[in-house]
Amino acid sequence: MAGKLSTWFVLSSGSSSHGWNDDCKKHYFSLRLFPRSLVSCKMRPQRSSNRPQAKKIFPAQLPQSDNLVPDGSGHSDSENTDDISALSSNSISKDIVAIQRYDDRNSSNKLNLSIGADKVNELSTVNIQDVIGMIRNAEKNIHILNQARIHAIEDLEKILGEKETLQREINSLEMRLAETDARIRVAAQDKIHVELLQDHLEKLQTEMSNRNEIQDIVLRSPDRQTRVLSEELNILRNENMSLKNDLMRLQEELSEVKKTDERVEMLEKERSILESSLKELEYKLTYSQEDDSQLSTLRSEYETLWDKVEHLQGLLDKSTSQADQAILVLQQNQELRKKVERLEESLEDASIYKLSSEKLQQYNDLMQQKIKLLDERLERSDAEIHSYVQLYQDSVKEFQDTLDNLKEESKKKASGKHVDMPWEFWSRLLVMFDAWSLEKKIDGDEAKLLRDMTWKKDTRIHDVYMECKDKNERETITAFRKLTSLSSSPGLHVIHIAAEMAPVAKVGGLGDVLSALSKALQKKGHLVEIILPKYDCMQYESIQDLRVLDIVVESYFDGQLFKNKIWVGTVEGLPVYFIEPLHPAKFFWRGKTYGEPDDLKRFSFFSRAALELLYQAGKKPDIIHCHDWQTAFVAPLYWDIYAPKGLNSARICFTCHNFEYQGTAPAAEIASCGLDIHHLNRPDRMQDHSSTDRINPVKGAIVYSNIVTTVSPTYAQEVRTSKGGQGLHATLNAHAKKFVGILNGIDTDAWNPATDGYLRFQYNANDLDGKAENKKALRRHLGLSIANSRRPLVGCITRLVPQKGVHLIRHAIYRALELGGQFVLLGSSPVPSIHREFEEIANKFQTHEHVRLILKYDEALSHTIYAASDMFIIPSIFEPCGLTQMIAMRYGAIPIVRKTGGLNDSVFDVDDDTIPVQLRNGFTFVTPDEQGFNGAYDRAFNHYNSDSEGWQELMRKVMSIDFSWDTSAAQYEELYQQSVAKARAVNRAAG
Ligand code: ADP
Repeated sequence: MAGKLSTWFVLSSGSSSHGWNDDCKKHYFSLRLFPRSLVSCKMRPQRSSNRPQAKKIFPAQLPQSDNLVPDGSGHSDSENTDDISALSSNSISKDIVAIQRYDDRNSSNKLNLSIGADKVNELSTVNIQDVIGMIRNAEKNIHILNQARIHAIEDLEKILGEKETLQREINSLEMRLAETDARIRVAAQDKIHVELLQDHLEKLQTEMSNRNEIQDIVLRSPDRQTRVLSEELNILRNENMSLKNDLMRLQEELSEVKKTDERVEMLEKERSILESSLKELEYKLTYSQEDDSQLSTLRSEYETLWDKVEHLQGLLDKSTSQADQAILVLQQNQELRKKVERLEESLEDASIYKLSSEKLQQYNDLMQQKIKLLDERLERSDAEIHSYVQLYQDSVKEFQDTLDNLKEESKKKASGKHVDMPWEFWSRLLVMFDAWSLEKKIDGDEAKLLRDMTWKKDTRIHDVYMECKDKNERETITAFRKLTSLSSSPGLHVIHIAAEMAPVAKVGGLGDVLSALSKALQKKGHLVEIILPKYDCMQYESIQDLRVLDIVVESYFDGQLFKNKIWVGTVEGLPVYFIEPLHPAKFFWRGKTYGEPDDLKRFSFFSRAALELLYQAGKKPDIIHCHDWQTAFVAPLYWDIYAPKGLNSARICFTCHNFEYQGTAPAAEIASCGLDIHHLNRPDRMQDHSSTDRINPVKGAIVYSNIVTTVSPTYAQEVRTSKGGQGLHATLNAHAKKFVGILNGIDTDAWNPATDGYLRFQYNANDLDGKAENKKALRRHLGLSIANSRRPLVGCITRLVPQKGVHLIRHAIYRALELGGQFVLLGSSPVPSIHREFEEIANKFQTHEHVRLILKYDEALSHTIYAASDMFIIPSIFEPCGLTQMIAMRYGAIPIVRKTGGLNDSVFDVDDDTIPVQLRNGFTFVTPDEQGFNGAYDRAFNHYNSDSEGWQELMRKVMSIDFSWDTSAAQYEELYQQSVAKARAVNRAAG
């Protein structure tokens, strides 16, 4: 291309020397156009290298003129193109050098060309004019070239400017390209959406077509499709509208709910205010009930006082008449005195004649005696008068005091305030005790003790006084003396003889009761000792300082004496004696506590040996407390054998923990321990109701004990009926005066979730987190599912015997699964058929994720189950007291129980409106069948699932109930004290 252009330039420049300018102009335009074509070509980078080549070549061709063309070549332009090209590559370059030099020197006239010698020779032959012309032309050419160069530079600048513009354009295009790419991507996504929508539309269409065949036909036509689509759109719009409406409605409802929430909050506040005022009212009610009882006490006192006032009135009347009489007597006395004076005068007269007459002397003596008698009479009469006057004055004073008291009391009643007994009350008692002391009706010590108690306003003084309101003085004094005998004692000496004691030898509730009651009594200041058999299977690690004594106690059995080793140690801080009979039958080396065929022999032997130990140790206990049939023999043995021997300081208390077990046996067997069967085998003594040949130890204990108790008030009522008495109701009714039901407590130190060493996580009513952790830990330990922490866990820990409602326990397992709960049973059964039945169930659920049955006795596990359970079932057919419901509550597990015995005294249904709210603590049912049980069970689950906060509240509430032995032990203490006081009074009367 460059070559061709050069050729074109040379030819045109050489065509006419005159037409140079025009050609140059043409050339110039060509030049101006040339870069443009170059520029346009430069758009493609591979060609950009051409442009600088063109620029170089172009000026190099300029010196070529017609003259410079080789002479005589005769070749046409077209023919010589190649040669020219060749030339241009050699000579043109030389010419350029020459022109440049010329140009450099810038001289118009001087020709100083450094050209070769050949050229100089040629030039000499050339006309100078031509040379000048050539030079001029060359100058012009140079000029033109310069201009062209300027233009070219300008063009170059423009090109560069254009290049920049183009670059910018390129950049913006690239940007747009990127944008377009992005849009394409978006469009591609849109396309996918559209495709999806189309799919959807197709699906809708198919659906529509499925729905309605007619519509299907319509849909096939595109118009109809459009219509259907628009209809669908309308439907969607309508749906949208309705959704919007719904949304608005929901928003309205939400604001309503918020308002309701606020209202609920307000109501909550009102409720709490009402609750607190209710509590206040209840408190006031209790207070007013106390006031009421105080009022009734005051009323009865008022009546007594009124009686007294009437009595005093009578006394006053009597005194007045006596005073009148006294005045009469006084007048008579005065007359007598006058007579005496007169007699004295006559005596004086007579004394004058004294010496004169013997008779007179005698008369004188007689008169003297008469005077003496009269004087004595006078003195007596004076004293009598004075006492009458004193009595009168006292009566008036007492009358006045009574009136004052009455006034004071009526004032207090009017003011409605509860006050302690007025000082007058205590002062009157002080005076009364002083009077008794002076009158030698009580001794000095007794008077001092009573005065001290009165001074301290001891309520026992008040109580005895109230008890004796209607009694005469002698009875009143006896009652106060009893009080002194108890108060002066440092505490009672109580000895329990039993077959169980927790934790060393525990089978059931008896073990718990024994240690907890003993501890509570010990805490109250009594000396408590326990006598147990020394079982081989005891928990020996719970006995401290166990040692055998260096004595042997011999006791009678089957007509001979057997030696017994005596061991001592302490259990839970209590002194315990363990009897180890050295009998060939090895009574307590059986690996178990009960359930041996010779149980009767084992425990009658033990009862006798225990009394023998007391006797030989010379102990003088105030109370011997025996428990259940195993130690029921103690009562008749004590009175028939040991009291006559001298062990007679004690009163016997017998507690029956379960009347189902009475230990009846053929009369001959009972005789082994030395009881006189002929004497005892009578219907009113030990004869069993079932046969004249059977002896009933429990019946014997009821008859031969001073105090008989059972373990709850409701059970005490139940066993006095033919239905619940297990044949002993008649005996219990006959001895009703000494029979009482005292609700057991639990050992709140041993059963305390805040300190329980068996638990991995301790907790209390104010911090229930630990309970949830224990639940998780137990589930893990037993391999139960831990997936849902809210799934309720039902616990049951029991001896599996018919009494405990085993059919309902079995039902509860399956029902728990139906209700979405988990179930854990810890139980052991002495009944083989029941054991087998539960073993089958246990095997069935061996790997179940929600049920586990552990058929053994396990103290440690029992603690963890109480702690982990949300609910706890005790569906007993009958239950003397039951401890598990109390333990469960202490650990925050809500009890579900049948309303019987002690369960009825300790669990009150949360939905029972007849029970004060503060007492409601569980779920109860009456009928011992599945339907009855479900009534409580389902409610409990419902409560748990629907009201989590309420359930927590209930947990906190039951955990705070006081199930300690404090109250129950106080009742036993009172029974003991009354019995002991009665005995002392009898002994005093006898002695
Ligand atoms: P009873 O004396 O009729 O057996 P209670 O409710 O009065 O029933 O007392 C039962 C006591 O025995 C509770 O302390 C309970 O925890 C415990 N207990 C019952 N069965 C077991 C067992 N299998 N493992 C551990 N402790 C048990």
